[in-house]
Amino acid sequence: MSAQKAEKKVHIKTWGCQMNVYDSERMADVMAPMGYAQTDQIGEADIVILNTCHIREKATEKVFSELGRMRVHKRAKEKAGGKMAFAVAGCVAQAEGAEILRRDKNVDMVIGSQAYHQLPEIIADWEKSNGTARIINTDFPAEPKFDHLPPAQPRGPSAYIAVQEGCDKFCSFCVVPYTRGSEYSRPAADIIAEIKTQISYGAREVNLLGQNVNAWHGTGTDGKTWNLGTLIFHLAELDGLDRIRYVTSHPNDMHDMLYRAHGEIPQLMPYLHLPIQNGSDKILAAMNRKHTQDDYRRIIDRMRDIRPDMAFSSDFIVGFPGETDADHRETMKIVDYVGYAAAYSFKYSRRPGTPAAKAGKQVLEDIKDIRLQELQKKLYADQTVFNTAKLGMAIPVLFDNRGKRYGQLQGKSPWLQTVNVIAPERLLGQIVDVKITEATQNSLTGEVIPIAPQISSGTHAA
Ligand code: SF4
Repeated sequence: MSAQKAEKKVHIKTWGCQMNVYDSERMADVMAPMGYAQTDQIGEADIVILNTCHIREKATEKVFSELGRMRVHKRAKEKAGGKMAFAVAGCVAQAEGAEILRRDKNVDMVIGSQAYHQLPEIIADWEKSNGTARIINTDFPAEPKFDHLPPAQPRGPSAYIAVQEGCDKFCSFCVVPYTRGSEYSRPAADIIAEIKTQISYGAREVNLLGQNVNAWHGTGTDGKTWNLGTLIFHLAELDGLDRIRYVTSHPNDMHDMLYRAHGEIPQLMPYLHLPIQNGSDKILAAMNRKHTQDDYRRIIDRMRDIRPDMAFSSDFIVGFPGETDADHRETMKIVDYVGYAAAYSFKYSRRPGTPAAKAGKQVLEDIKDIRLQELQKKLYADQTVFNTAKLGMAIPVLFDNRGKRYGQLQGKSPWLQTVNVIAPERLLGQIVDVKITEATQNSLTGEVIPIAPQISSGTHAA
């Protein structure tokens, strides 16, 4: 019997947003033709990639702590006569660059968020050096990396597709414009081709991703510039695509065609993640958001006129420099007005290199704590109310995962709620009507409703 060629292994650990999850999937796609299979066991990896996020405080220190913990695996591999490369990728790599190589001698490669399509060359150089080279590539290439990525592997029933990257907004607290660069919109033809491939693999839902997704303005298949609403109208024509979502949106990039799409396209889910960050106009101006609380309310009102069942989520920052109790009350007011289905909320923390990091009037930590507690108490209560309102209802659920319990499937409602159901495995990847029997702050539980012959679409009623 001939000896089989040993497969090489890559372990990828991902921090941060859905865009980073997508990037990690694409890194695996890039490395697959080189003979690298993914493993979740660090010990058996030939290359470990930390795909990092720079959005939270002490992000860089967390990366170095993780590298320290992983060192034992590298030593063990070397002791056994092998080699294990450490690569730091993503936004911390982009922001810190050569400093990472200087601070940790065990790091072999630093790969910026726009350079991972060059992994084959980077890894080949490292292998050629017999593991002695230390390589850094944090360039912003002249041509978008998307043009150099291989076809994507299957992503399951709910596929994430990057349509836009980068940001030109320069909110004063945010590192994204520096780590991801300026806005880039992929052409519609490339997006449609990637989605069609995922549909052929069994995807029923697509999540269009972008740091500023509703600013997408790519070249359409007719050669004209389309906006996100127009793109969604075209995606709705694709056979087999039952659900469309998009994230993350900026209030200033909402546009008529997108509102229309929500009114007219049943496949477009009635859920909008629309960060406001803070309710105070003074703080919004200091954040360089270029919109007011009233502007935001008008978006919510217009969307609710078009789709009365529309649910909203948001991001919040409390304790931004200069925030007073009166400003915080404004945040509580907008929360009360919208009644969010979900939200992410954080205390402000300085990001080196951003304008807000240099601002005076930093808010004391214990005041930030009090404000965050008050905000989260209200947000969690609203989320519970939103979920509880679904009790007894029959809602279409796309089963996209196995649940934690034996025999359980997990899926998503149209409003992005997690729904747990004891259901046969064959329903994985299907949209099935489920009667909701339990609701908590974080999830729903239900029972599959037997399929009547004439019920078909599984998408929401418009
Ligand atoms: S719009 Fe979003 S990504 Fe862009 S700078 Fe502001 S917070 Fe960052």
